[in-house]
Amino acid sequence: MSEDQNKIFQLAAEAINEQRAGTLSRNEEEPSAVLPWHELVADSSVIADDNLFMISRTVCELLEKGIVGLFGPTAGLSSGYVQSMCDLMEIPHIETRRDHLPNRGTCMINLHPYPPTLARVYSDLVHVMKWTSFTILYDTDESLPRINALLKLYDPKGYSVVVRKLDIYNGDGNIRSILKEVKENGERYFIVESAGYDLFKILTQAQQVGMISDHYHYIITTLDMHTIDLEPFQYGGANITGVRMIDPEDDDVEQATMLWREFEQRRGETLIESLEKEKLTLDSALMYDAVFIFAEALHQLNQSNSIRTRPLDCDEFDNWEHGYSLINYMRMVNWKGLSGILKFDHQGFRTDFMLQIVELTSNGLQKIGTWNSTEGLNITRTQVAHHESEQVANFKNKTFLVLTALSKPYGMLKDSADKLTGNDRYEGFGIDLIHELSLMLGFNYIYAIQEDNNYGSINKKTGEWEGMLREVMDGRADLAITDLTITSARESVVDFTSPFMNLGISILYTKAKKMPPELFSFMSPFSKELWYYMGAAYFSISFLFFLMGRLSPDEWMNPYPCVEEPEVLSNQFSLTNSFWFTIGSILQQGSEIAPVSTSTRVAAGTWWFFTVIMVSSYTANLSACLTVEQLFEPIKSAEDLAAQTAIQYGSKEKGSTEGFFKEATYPPYKKMYEYMQNIPGVMFDDNDKGVTRVKTTNYAYLMESTSIEYITQRDCDLQQVGDLLDDKGYGIAMRKNSSYRNDLSTAVLKLQEAGQLQKLKDKWWKEKRGGGACETSGAATAAAALDLPNVGGVFIVLVAGMAFSTVTAFLEMCFGAVIRSYKYKIPLHEELINELKFLIRCWGLTKPVRTSSEEDNVDGDGGNRKPDDENNGFDDLANDLYNYEPDLTRSNEIKHSI
Ligand code: ASP
Repeated sequence: MSEDQNKIFQLAAEAINEQRAGTLSRNEEEPSAVLPWHELVADSSVIADDNLFMISRTVCELLEKGIVGLFGPTAGLSSGYVQSMCDLMEIPHIETRRDHLPNRGTCMINLHPYPPTLARVYSDLVHVMKWTSFTILYDTDESLPRINALLKLYDPKGYSVVVRKLDIYNGDGNIRSILKEVKENGERYFIVESAGYDLFKILTQAQQVGMISDHYHYIITTLDMHTIDLEPFQYGGANITGVRMIDPEDDDVEQATMLWREFEQRRGETLIESLEKEKLTLDSALMYDAVFIFAEALHQLNQSNSIRTRPLDCDEFDNWEHGYSLINYMRMVNWKGLSGILKFDHQGFRTDFMLQIVELTSNGLQKIGTWNSTEGLNITRTQVAHHESEQVANFKNKTFLVLTALSKPYGMLKDSADKLTGNDRYEGFGIDLIHELSLMLGFNYIYAIQEDNNYGSINKKTGEWEGMLREVMDGRADLAITDLTITSARESVVDFTSPFMNLGISILYTKAKKMPPELFSFMSPFSKELWYYMGAAYFSISFLFFLMGRLSPDEWMNPYPCVEEPEVLSNQFSLTNSFWFTIGSILQQGSEIAPVSTSTRVAAGTWWFFTVIMVSSYTANLSACLTVEQLFEPIKSAEDLAAQTAIQYGSKEKGSTEGFFKEATYPPYKKMYEYMQNIPGVMFDDNDKGVTRVKTTNYAYLMESTSIEYITQRDCDLQQVGDLLDDKGYGIAMRKNSSYRNDLSTAVLKLQEAGQLQKLKDKWWKEKRGGGACETSGAATAAAALDLPNVGGVFIVLVAGMAFSTVTAFLEMCFGAVIRSYKYKIPLHEELINELKFLIRCWGLTKPVRTSSEEDNVDGDGGNRKPDDENNGFDDLANDLYNYEPDLTRSNEIKHSI
């Protein structure tokens, strides 16, 4: 028994006796304290563990004195011996040591939690903290059974668990070299298995080799972690988690230590430091509790049986008749002690005990959760938030581990003839951005590279996040920067800064190939529809000329060669002439046909206007079509890609682009996702491989627009095809609820507002590493065929002009008819009907001229134009009306010759 335990053993007995005395003085009739009528006498002796003879003699001497119970010993070897003696003599044997043996004596009870049960706490912690591999550091061989239990409980599916001994008891206790080795191996997660008094030495040396700093994680197994001075380690940044059974703030612990101090003061002594509540070890607390439950059990047994002690003789294998009953009462006890609720199973193993999970923060140890042997681990993590909020103050002195991936131009290896080390090895947009942020916020940083280039995705088998995000989530990296897309799924497990770049998914594909010149490329200036419309206009206008020619009296002229008195009048707008006239003007050649009447002149003017515009548009566009090479573009959009099978396509695997297609509900994108999953070799773990595939085979790579831009600035054979499929941004990832987020986001926004981000983008996209090579040689846009909307106005003018001239032609015809009906005294309607009949007949290009007798009666003109007549139809009409003399006897008949 240690000095502390011996002291506490005495103090516990004294406390029980004192309570009894206090109770008797208050109310002798109804005593409420334990053992009101008995006094406990605590006797103790210190014997070397390996001196079994002395142990047996001491036990026999004690038995001869007539004892009711035996506490201890604390060492394993003598304990087994004492246990067998107690079993034989039926004396209750009470222990408080860490005993890993699964069998307990029949007369024995141990207040210390069974070590394999305790190992479950550490295993649960490892699972909750998501450690995938760790190193167990232990100092004495006594720890081996406990380590064994820990190894068995932890299911090491593919994870590595390293066990290393820290030989703290050899030589000068220097374990720095082994700790250095551990550090150089990159081990970051440790379970430290040592007694409380060794822990300080281990942590001190770990601190000296730089292992009490950010990115180092420890689980301390000793339940006495709270008893050592942790102040030197609480600012280092290491994540140190421990477990304790005694809460120094607990009321019972406080009252007990106050009581002990009082006892000591009464004796004129001061309480030894190790019994102050902050230093109270589990062993001491368990000894105190052991005495109390023993006294409680004795008290209860005494109430049913009158207990008497009697001397027992070791030589006669004598036994105490109350021993078994007493031990059974102890096992049934349910009492709250300094180590929490005391409950036992029928074998004397402690059950239902509660542990506190504590974490070392700059304010000392803080409770972050509990562990119960029935309910398991319950992490509240309120202290973690507190711990992280402390980081705000530490921003300035913080060294971040920044994880990046080698992805152009965000993070790249610097080309240099010299061997570069540390952060100097990397360059790129992301590297510059972190540098700018560090200048603004004052932190330091070191880089680590994500070797597998996995940015962050959920493993389909395990359902666990992996890649860069996993590293951030587990605290192996503070920040992650690359072309890391902010997605809602990722945002649910890590925090992102405000986006530092905006982009969308698009298609990287080879530039369109030149098409061989077409035989009928002269057709290309106008669209097919426009050609149809032009043809329709030509036919209808030509026919209209023919009709207007027939309608309009002025178009009936003295036929060639001119004669004084023509018999018939002829019309130049025959059907063929009309077509010839219109085609002549379209082809800019003209014809001998000259419209004479107002209506045909208006129509001709409109048609010429139309042809001028159409011909000049055609000429202009033809030159564009002939100079710009026609390009062959097999795909123009993602939909085109989805609809075909000749061109293979894919994206970066385990990235947000793949995630976009996976989540898509739009049928073409769904189809594309299925294609990408089913066709082997179309997905790549790295963008460079995808780009190489685009260049070498008929393959399209779905990629983010910013990366496409970077590539097309350098490789002029490649181009972005189609628009962006979505709209998103890149951000810097950090742990969930990180207190750095706001400051980093604000700094990113400031850089954006100051134009710094744009400068960095120009630098890495357009200037460095061959940027800007393809800027001037941008693809000439193919000349588009003109369509109806381009020249629609001209058609409208044409239609309007034609409508106007048609109306004019009718009016001319009507005027002619009116004049003739007056001149030749024919009913107007007859004249009109004749005219219309002639019109409808649609053939006949001559009209007979009126007879001279008829003409004499009028003005000798016959109502029709002679070829040399300079006047137009309206002048004739005026003259006719002026000279008009009605002759009602005349029967006038106009004959149209066929
Ligand atoms: N930037 C993407 C990511 O964050 C990579 C990609 O899928 O194209 O995963």
